[in-house]
Amino acid sequence: MIPAELDYRRAESLEDALAALAEPEAKALAGGQSLVSVLKLRLVRPRLLVDIGGLELRGVEELDGQLHIGALTTWNDLGQSEGFQRPALAGLADCALGVGDLQVRNRGTVGGSLAHADPASDLPAVLLALRASFVLRSAGGERTVAASEFFLGPFLTALAAGELLTEVVVPLPPTGSGSAYESFEHPASGFALAGAAALVRPDGERSVAACGISAQPVLVEVREEPDAALADIDVFGDDFASEEYRRHLAAVLIGRALERADERRTEDERWQA
Ligand SMILES: Cc1cc2nc3c(=O)[nH]c(=O)nc-3n(C[C@H](O)[C@H](O)[C@H](O)COP(=O)(O)OP(=O)(O)OC[C@H]3O[C@@H](n4cnc5c(N)ncnc54)[C@H](O)[C@@H]3O)c2cc1C
Repeated sequence: MIPAELDYRRAESLEDALAALAEPEAKALAGGQSLVSVLKLRLVRPRLLVDIGGLELRGVEELDGQLHIGALTTWNDLGQSEGFQRPALAGLADCALGVGDLQVRNRGTVGGSLAHADPASDLPAVLLALRASFVLRSAGGERTVAASEFFLGPFLTALAAGELLTEVVVPLPPTGSGSAYESFEHPASGFALAGAAALVRPDGERSVAACGISAQPVLVEVREEPDAALADIDVFGDDFASEEYRRHLAAVLIGRALERADERRTEDERWQA
Protein backbone atom coordinates (compact mmCIF):
# COMPACT_ATOMS: atom_id res chain seq x y z
CA MET A 1 0.00 0.00 0.00
CA ILE A 2 1.14 3.55 -0.70
CA PRO A 3 0.39 6.49 1.59
CA ALA A 4 -1.78 9.34 0.28
CA GLU A 5 0.15 12.38 -0.95
CA LEU A 6 1.56 14.55 1.82
CA ASP A 7 4.22 17.14 2.54
CA TYR A 8 7.22 16.25 4.69
CA ARG A 9 9.21 18.67 6.84
CA ARG A 10 12.11 17.84 9.15
CA ALA A 11 11.93 20.01 12.28
CA GLU A 12 15.21 21.71 13.19
CA SER A 13 14.16 22.75 16.70
CA LEU A 14 11.28 22.26 19.13
CA GLU A 15 9.91 25.71 18.24
CA ASP A 16 10.13 24.85 14.56
CA ALA A 17 8.23 21.57 15.19
CA LEU A 18 5.50 23.29 17.25
CA ALA A 19 5.01 25.98 14.58
CA ALA A 20 4.68 23.31 11.87
CA LEU A 21 2.30 21.21 13.99
CA ALA A 22 0.05 24.27 14.41
CA GLU A 23 -0.70 24.05 10.67
CA PRO A 24 -3.95 22.28 9.68
CA GLU A 25 -3.82 18.48 9.45
CA ALA A 26 -0.18 18.25 10.51
CA LYS A 27 1.10 15.14 12.28
CA ALA A 28 4.33 14.31 14.11
CA LEU A 29 6.61 11.51 12.90
CA ALA A 30 9.00 10.07 15.49
CA GLY A 31 10.38 6.54 14.91
CA GLY A 32 7.64 5.69 12.39
CA GLN A 33 7.06 2.18 13.81
CA SER A 34 3.30 2.69 14.22
CA LEU A 35 2.65 5.69 12.00
CA VAL A 36 4.13 4.40 8.74
CA SER A 37 1.85 1.34 8.67
CA VAL A 38 -1.31 3.37 9.33
CA LEU A 39 -0.22 5.90 6.68
CA LYS A 40 0.23 3.07 4.18
CA LEU A 41 -3.21 1.69 5.01
CA ARG A 42 -4.54 5.27 4.66
CA LEU A 43 -6.15 5.02 8.10
CA VAL A 44 -4.70 8.50 8.69
CA ARG A 45 -4.17 11.10 5.96
CA PRO A 46 -2.23 14.09 7.29
CA ARG A 47 -1.42 16.89 4.87
CA LEU A 48 1.92 17.57 6.55
CA LEU A 49 4.28 15.14 8.26
CA VAL A 50 6.56 16.88 10.76
CA ASP A 51 9.65 14.75 11.42
CA ILE A 52 10.64 15.32 15.05
CA GLY A 53 13.28 12.54 15.03
CA GLY A 54 16.23 14.96 15.19
CA LEU A 55 15.02 16.98 18.19
CA GLU A 56 16.86 16.89 21.51
CA LEU A 57 14.11 15.11 23.36
CA ARG A 58 16.03 11.89 23.94
CA GLY A 59 17.44 10.62 27.21
CA VAL A 60 16.70 9.92 30.85
CA GLU A 61 17.62 12.32 33.66
CA GLU A 62 17.10 12.22 37.42
CA LEU A 63 16.30 15.64 38.85
CA ASP A 64 14.73 16.76 42.16
CA GLY A 65 13.31 13.36 43.07
CA GLN A 66 11.83 12.81 39.63
CA LEU A 67 12.85 10.88 36.57
CA HIS A 68 12.54 12.82 33.31
CA ILE A 69 12.24 10.67 30.20
CA GLY A 70 12.46 12.52 26.88
CA ALA A 71 9.71 11.65 24.38
CA LEU A 72 12.24 10.49 21.78
CA THR A 73 13.89 8.02 24.15
CA THR A 74 13.80 4.63 22.42
CA TRP A 75 12.89 1.31 24.01
CA ASN A 76 16.55 0.26 23.95
CA ASP A 77 17.64 3.50 25.65
CA LEU A 78 15.02 2.89 28.31
CA GLY A 79 15.80 -0.79 28.83
CA GLN A 80 19.53 -0.15 29.13
CA SER A 81 19.25 2.97 31.27
CA GLU A 82 21.29 2.44 34.44
CA GLY A 83 18.65 3.90 36.73
CA PHE A 84 16.15 1.26 35.69
CA GLN A 85 18.34 -1.49 37.09
CA ARG A 86 17.14 -0.09 40.41
CA PRO A 87 14.53 -2.61 41.65
CA ALA A 88 12.05 0.17 42.40
CA LEU A 89 12.05 1.10 38.69
CA ALA A 90 12.70 -2.34 37.21
CA GLY A 91 9.12 -2.52 35.92
CA LEU A 92 10.15 0.01 33.24
CA ALA A 93 13.04 -2.20 32.08
CA ASP A 94 10.82 -5.33 32.16
CA CYS A 95 8.47 -3.55 29.81
CA ALA A 96 10.97 -1.82 27.49
CA LEU A 97 13.07 -4.91 26.80
CA GLY A 98 9.98 -6.99 26.02
CA VAL A 99 8.62 -4.69 23.30
CA GLY A 100 8.69 -5.96 19.69
CA ASP A 101 12.03 -6.92 18.16
CA LEU A 102 15.45 -5.26 18.06
CA GLN A 103 14.52 -2.99 15.15
CA VAL A 104 11.35 -1.77 16.87
CA ARG A 105 13.28 -1.20 20.11
CA ASN A 106 15.96 0.77 18.24
CA ARG A 107 13.51 3.01 16.34
CA GLY A 108 10.30 3.12 18.40
CA THR A 109 10.03 5.85 21.00
CA VAL A 110 8.31 6.29 24.33
CA GLY A 111 6.41 9.37 23.10
CA GLY A 112 5.26 7.59 19.94
CA SER A 113 3.93 4.64 21.90
CA LEU A 114 2.03 6.83 24.36
CA ALA A 115 0.59 9.12 21.68
CA HIS A 116 -0.47 6.16 19.52
CA ALA A 117 -2.36 4.73 22.53
CA ASP A 118 -2.87 1.19 21.29
CA PRO A 119 -4.85 -0.45 24.13
CA ALA A 120 -2.46 -3.44 23.91
CA SER A 121 0.72 -1.38 24.37
CA ASP A 122 2.72 -2.20 27.48
CA LEU A 123 4.20 1.07 28.74
CA PRO A 124 0.95 2.83 29.78
CA ALA A 125 0.31 0.22 32.48
CA VAL A 126 3.76 0.73 34.01
CA LEU A 127 3.47 4.52 33.92
CA LEU A 128 0.00 4.40 35.48
CA ALA A 129 1.28 2.22 38.34
CA LEU A 130 4.26 4.57 38.85
CA ARG A 131 1.90 7.61 38.91
CA ALA A 132 3.71 9.31 36.04
CA SER A 133 2.63 12.46 34.24
CA PHE A 134 3.20 13.74 30.73
CA VAL A 135 4.38 17.17 29.60
CA LEU A 136 2.51 18.40 26.52
CA ARG A 137 3.77 21.40 24.51
CA SER A 138 2.14 23.42 21.75
CA ALA A 139 2.87 26.74 20.08
CA GLY A 140 0.49 28.19 22.70
CA GLY A 141 2.26 26.88 25.83
CA GLU A 142 2.78 23.88 28.08
CA ARG A 143 0.60 21.73 30.34
CA THR A 144 1.09 18.60 32.41
CA VAL A 145 -1.43 15.76 32.34
CA ALA A 146 -1.46 12.80 34.74
CA ALA A 147 -1.13 9.40 33.04
CA SER A 148 -4.49 8.50 34.60
CA GLU A 149 -6.13 11.32 32.59
CA PHE A 150 -4.20 10.93 29.34
CA PHE A 151 -5.63 7.72 27.84
CA LEU A 152 -9.21 8.31 26.76
CA GLY A 153 -9.96 5.24 24.61
CA PRO A 154 -8.50 3.06 21.85
CA PHE A 155 -5.98 5.24 19.94
CA LEU A 156 -7.41 8.28 21.70
CA THR A 157 -5.55 10.54 24.14
CA ALA A 158 -5.78 13.96 25.77
CA LEU A 159 -3.32 15.35 23.18
CA ALA A 160 -4.95 18.28 21.37
CA ALA A 161 -4.26 19.16 17.72
CA GLY A 162 -0.84 20.80 17.47
CA GLU A 163 0.39 19.38 20.80
CA LEU A 164 3.56 17.37 21.21
CA LEU A 165 4.31 15.09 24.13
CA THR A 166 7.81 16.20 25.11
CA GLU A 167 8.54 14.44 28.38
CA VAL A 168 7.39 11.76 30.81
CA VAL A 169 7.90 12.57 34.49
CA VAL A 170 8.04 9.72 37.01
CA PRO A 171 8.17 10.50 40.75
CA LEU A 172 11.01 8.40 42.19
CA PRO A 173 9.57 5.77 44.54
CA PRO A 174 11.02 5.77 48.08
CA THR A 175 13.93 3.45 48.93
CA GLY A 176 12.66 -0.05 49.61
CA SER A 177 10.03 0.02 46.84
CA GLY A 178 9.80 -2.58 44.06
CA SER A 179 8.09 -2.56 40.67
CA ALA A 180 7.42 -5.17 37.99
CA TYR A 181 5.62 -5.68 34.69
CA GLU A 182 4.20 -9.01 33.53
CA SER A 183 2.45 -9.74 30.24
CA PHE A 184 1.03 -12.60 28.24
CA GLU A 185 1.84 -12.06 24.59
CA HIS A 186 -0.05 -12.98 21.47
CA PRO A 187 2.23 -15.60 19.85
CA ALA A 188 2.09 -13.98 16.39
CA SER A 189 2.12 -10.22 17.03
CA GLY A 190 3.97 -10.20 20.37
CA PHE A 191 1.49 -7.58 21.65
CA ALA A 192 0.00 -8.15 25.10
CA LEU A 193 -3.26 -10.07 25.30
CA ALA A 194 -3.09 -8.79 28.86
CA GLY A 195 -0.44 -7.03 30.91
CA ALA A 196 -0.11 -5.94 34.52
CA ALA A 197 2.25 -3.56 36.30
CA ALA A 198 2.73 -3.17 40.04
CA LEU A 199 4.56 -0.84 42.38
CA VAL A 200 4.87 -1.87 46.04
CA ARG A 201 6.12 0.79 48.45
CA PRO A 202 8.11 0.14 51.66
CA ASP A 203 4.98 0.61 53.79
CA GLY A 204 3.25 -2.09 51.70
CA GLU A 205 1.05 0.36 49.74
CA ARG A 206 0.37 -1.12 46.30
CA SER A 207 -0.37 0.52 42.97
CA VAL A 208 -1.50 -1.71 40.12
CA ALA A 209 -2.50 -1.09 36.49
CA ALA A 210 -3.49 -3.33 33.58
CA CYS A 211 -3.34 -3.04 29.79
CA GLY A 212 -4.65 -5.02 26.84
CA ILE A 213 -7.92 -5.89 28.56
CA SER A 214 -10.10 -2.81 28.05
CA ALA A 215 -10.50 0.22 25.80
CA GLN A 216 -7.66 1.99 27.59
CA PRO A 217 -5.09 1.05 30.23
CA VAL A 218 -6.62 1.13 33.71
CA LEU A 219 -5.58 1.58 37.32
CA VAL A 220 -6.82 -1.41 39.30
CA GLU A 221 -7.90 -1.04 42.89
CA VAL A 222 -6.16 -3.90 44.65
CA ARG A 223 -8.23 -5.92 47.07
CA GLU A 224 -7.35 -9.29 48.60
CA GLU A 225 -8.00 -11.27 45.39
CA PRO A 226 -6.89 -9.95 41.94
CA ASP A 227 -10.09 -11.46 40.38
CA ALA A 228 -12.25 -9.34 42.66
CA ALA A 229 -10.21 -6.24 41.82
CA LEU A 230 -11.17 -6.63 38.14
CA ALA A 231 -14.91 -6.91 38.79
CA ASP A 232 -15.62 -3.22 37.99
CA ILE A 233 -13.55 -3.18 34.79
CA ASP A 234 -15.19 -3.44 31.38
CA VAL A 235 -12.98 -6.23 29.96
CA PHE A 236 -13.38 -6.96 26.24
CA GLY A 237 -13.24 -10.21 24.29
CA ASP A 238 -12.20 -10.70 20.66
CA ASP A 239 -11.18 -13.45 18.21
CA PHE A 240 -7.95 -14.05 20.14
CA ALA A 241 -9.26 -14.23 23.70
CA SER A 242 -12.73 -14.23 25.24
CA GLU A 243 -13.65 -11.72 27.91
CA GLU A 244 -13.59 -14.50 30.50
CA TYR A 245 -10.10 -15.68 29.45
CA ARG A 246 -8.67 -12.12 29.42
CA ARG A 247 -10.11 -11.47 32.86
CA HIS A 248 -8.49 -14.66 34.14
CA LEU A 249 -5.15 -13.80 32.49
CA ALA A 250 -5.19 -10.31 33.96
CA ALA A 251 -5.87 -11.65 37.46
CA VAL A 252 -2.97 -14.11 37.19
CA LEU A 253 -0.62 -11.41 35.83
CA ILE A 254 -1.58 -8.95 38.55
CA GLY A 255 -0.75 -11.61 41.15
CA ARG A 256 2.63 -12.28 39.50
CA ALA A 257 3.50 -8.59 39.12
CA LEU A 258 2.68 -7.95 42.77
CA GLU A 259 4.75 -10.92 43.88
CA ARG A 260 7.79 -9.85 41.83
CA ALA A 261 7.48 -6.21 42.88
CA ASP A 262 7.30 -7.34 46.50
CA GLU A 263 10.47 -9.48 46.12
CA ARG A 264 12.26 -6.49 44.63
CA ARG A 265 11.55 -4.31 47.68
CA THR A 266 14.38 -5.87 49.70
CA GLU A 267 16.67 -5.80 46.65
CA ASP A 268 16.01 -2.06 46.38
CA GLU A 269 17.23 -1.48 49.94
CA ARG A 270 20.45 -3.35 49.12
CA TRP A 271 20.80 -1.40 45.84
CA GLN A 272 20.56 1.93 47.64
CA ALA A 273 22.96 0.91 50.44
C1 LIG B 1 6.65 -5.32 14.77
C2 LIG B 1 6.19 -4.44 15.91
C3 LIG B 1 6.07 -5.01 17.16
C4 LIG B 1 5.64 -4.20 18.25
N1 LIG B 1 5.52 -4.77 19.50
C5 LIG B 1 5.09 -4.02 20.53
C6 LIG B 1 4.95 -4.57 21.82
O1 LIG B 1 5.23 -5.75 22.08
N2 LIG B 1 4.50 -3.76 22.83
C7 LIG B 1 4.23 -2.43 22.61
O2 LIG B 1 3.83 -1.74 23.54
N3 LIG B 1 4.37 -1.88 21.39
C8 LIG B 1 4.79 -2.63 20.36
N4 LIG B 1 4.94 -2.08 19.12
C9 LIG B 1 4.58 -0.65 18.94
C10 LIG B 1 5.81 0.22 19.12
O3 LIG B 1 6.14 0.24 20.48
C11 LIG B 1 5.43 1.60 18.63
O4 LIG B 1 5.22 1.47 17.23
C12 LIG B 1 6.50 2.66 18.82
O5 LIG B 1 6.93 2.80 20.14
C13 LIG B 1 5.89 4.00 18.39
O6 LIG B 1 6.89 4.98 18.49
P1 LIG B 1 7.40 5.73 17.19
O7 LIG B 1 8.45 6.65 17.64
O8 LIG B 1 7.78 4.74 16.14
O9 LIG B 1 6.08 6.51 16.80
P2 LIG B 1 5.53 6.90 15.36
O10 LIG B 1 5.15 5.67 14.62
O11 LIG B 1 6.46 7.83 14.67
O12 LIG B 1 4.22 7.70 15.81
C14 LIG B 1 3.10 7.05 16.37
C15 LIG B 1 2.01 8.06 16.66
O13 LIG B 1 2.39 8.92 17.71
C16 LIG B 1 2.43 10.28 17.25
N5 LIG B 1 3.61 10.83 17.93
C17 LIG B 1 4.86 10.34 17.91
N6 LIG B 1 5.64 11.01 18.78
C18 LIG B 1 4.86 11.94 19.34
C19 LIG B 1 5.10 12.95 20.33
N7 LIG B 1 6.29 13.10 20.93
N8 LIG B 1 4.06 13.75 20.68
C20 LIG B 1 2.85 13.61 20.10
N9 LIG B 1 2.57 12.68 19.17
C21 LIG B 1 3.57 11.86 18.80
C22 LIG B 1 2.51 10.22 15.76
O14 LIG B 1 1.93 11.38 15.15
C23 LIG B 1 1.68 8.99 15.47
O15 LIG B 1 0.31 9.29 15.54
C24 LIG B 1 5.37 -2.83 18.04
C25 LIG B 1 5.50 -2.27 16.76
C26 LIG B 1 5.92 -3.06 15.70
C27 LIG B 1 6.07 -2.44 14.35
